[in-house]
Amino acid sequence: MSTFKEMGLKSEILSAIEELGYVNPTKIQELALPKILESKQDLIAFAQTGTGKTAAFSLPVLNQIDTSKKGIKCIVLSPTRELGLQIAQDIKSYSKNIPGFKVVAVYGGADITSQIRNIERGCDVVVGTPGRTLDLIKRNRLNLEGVEFLVLDEADEMLSMGFAEDLDAILANTPKEKQTLLFSATMPPDMVKLSRKYMTDPLEISAGSKQEANTSVTHLYYKINNRDRYPALKRAVDVAPDIYGIIFCRTRAETKEVAERLSEDGYNTDALHGDLSQAQRDHVMGKFRNRSLQLLVATDVAARGLDVNELTHVINFKLPDEDAVYVHRSGRTGRAGNEGISLTLLTGNEEKRLRYLEKKIGRKFERVDIPNGKEICEKQLFNLIDNIKETEIANSHIDSFLPQIYEKFEEMSKEEVIKKIVSTEFNRFLEYYRDAPDLNKTSDKRERERNRERDNNRDSDRGNRRDRGDRGDRGGDRRERREHKTADNMTRYFINQGKKDGFNPKILMGMINSHMEGKSPEIGQIEIMKMFSFFEMEKGYTADLQRASKNMEHNGRDVSIEESSPKPSGGGGDRRDRNRGDRDRSPRSGGGKDHRGGGSSRASGSHGAKRRRRF
Ligand code: AMP
Repeated sequence: MSTFKEMGLKSEILSAIEELGYVNPTKIQELALPKILESKQDLIAFAQTGTGKTAAFSLPVLNQIDTSKKGIKCIVLSPTRELGLQIAQDIKSYSKNIPGFKVVAVYGGADITSQIRNIERGCDVVVGTPGRTLDLIKRNRLNLEGVEFLVLDEADEMLSMGFAEDLDAILANTPKEKQTLLFSATMPPDMVKLSRKYMTDPLEISAGSKQEANTSVTHLYYKINNRDRYPALKRAVDVAPDIYGIIFCRTRAETKEVAERLSEDGYNTDALHGDLSQAQRDHVMGKFRNRSLQLLVATDVAARGLDVNELTHVINFKLPDEDAVYVHRSGRTGRAGNEGISLTLLTGNEEKRLRYLEKKIGRKFERVDIPNGKEICEKQLFNLIDNIKETEIANSHIDSFLPQIYEKFEEMSKEEVIKKIVSTEFNRFLEYYRDAPDLNKTSDKRERERNRERDNNRDSDRGNRRDRGDRGDRGGDRRERREHKTADNMTRYFINQGKKDGFNPKILMGMINSHMEGKSPEIGQIEIMKMFSFFEMEKGYTADLQRASKNMEHNGRDVSIEESSPKPSGGGGDRRDRNRGDRDRSPRSGGGKDHRGGGSSRASGSHGAKRRRRF
């Protein structure tokens, strides 16, 4: 196999792809690169998404473009806006070290004037969807007369989407002397016609025939009610303790929202989307690659440059519109000999679309039940036990503490010690999922309402506890917390007394009145949680209150009061507290390799059929 360097790529391109982590060419690149570099012959390449086809045509074209010449040298046509943007983004990364090089993407559904401005500022390559490209040609805003390369990417898709006429019209506006590169997964009759009409003696190469999804991926789906999408996602994650995966969302806003909610709920996650700067994106990708992050919530475009072979799961928070996007997403797992799961959260309305997708990608989707609380707890429990068993003992360090540790456990039996150790970690799941409703799509509307109400109440309570960094739980839902916002004239406080201590608003008021004699600050909202509480007090009394709290006692315990962040109106919880406690203490936030106790390798290697069915 030749290396990229041996193929004759210039140093500017080599350095860029090296940065992207491309070491060896993929099969389609190995076949296409030399042909495009060495001859002007037209080319038909059969390659499916995920094979590295974008680089297969982009790298040799970029290698030959002379940026000192004016005008567009290459036009790439792609069936969808999403794919077009991805290609343009890829070309941008491949060409980042080529001085003066510019690529512009043009596509429908976006402001045409800014696209015209971009073209008029000068560019070497245009990537466009057929409709918008033709529109620009008709407006005399896109001149393809100097084009040396024409790329038809996913040509079969373009034809099946009804772009045949547009393609005809676009191609008629390109010079005769050019190299046409047609990439496609299949060769439908229309395409044979198209190639005969517009290509001269094309050379055919192939790196796999039909557009098929990867065979090492199991395609599963949960049938959900739309409003249960988020709780269902959490269950998918909770039932797979060793998960290392990407959650794909359709928009930047959705990506942000899901990542934010998961973070608030204590999951080890971050978001990757187009609103982040390149440096921020690199940072997030770096964390995910080195497994400091267990879950990445991403848009398709943003996740393009990310190549990780060991992903156990891809979760489609929503089904993408394009089949190719689904293939691309799911193809991110089940790589390098590993098995993977592609799980889609699907509403009843989308099932028809799923059947169509099955046909297109040649794979069956299996419906699996959304796990119930018992199944999740069982999974978490045995994972915990496995992790304890696999944990290496740091002999020299722990030995010196052992006598004291034994002394502390002296009174307890071995069984009791085991129970307690396991419970410290496990209780949070047990508690959260106690009485957890069945989220599987049910036709009984009233039952669904009841379930949701129960879920919301439970989530609200736990979410607030998590705000304090309490070890109690995960899974808070922000809906409840939206109800009230700390007023500007109030300060919010945390107090270490909760329902379990027999604490209630009356006791709190009594304590304040008796210990802050001579002062009568206004008291705002009081929230009594299980283990602790929050209350609001008129601003300006913090020092008095803290002084007074030194003398407070309740239920045999010293009372501790601390100032807390104001309660937000739109969710988001108590950031200071969350940063301090929740992330560190959440069941999933232990961070990276160590936290999973070697689980990652097990996760990627042991997804046998049995395990998957229990998903
Ligand atoms: P594509 O088929 O163009 O959609 O590419 C699929 C994925 O493979 C993209 O994320 C590319 O960044 C990546 N890729 C392309 N070529 C290589 C290579 N030679 N080595 C590693 N990754 C690659």
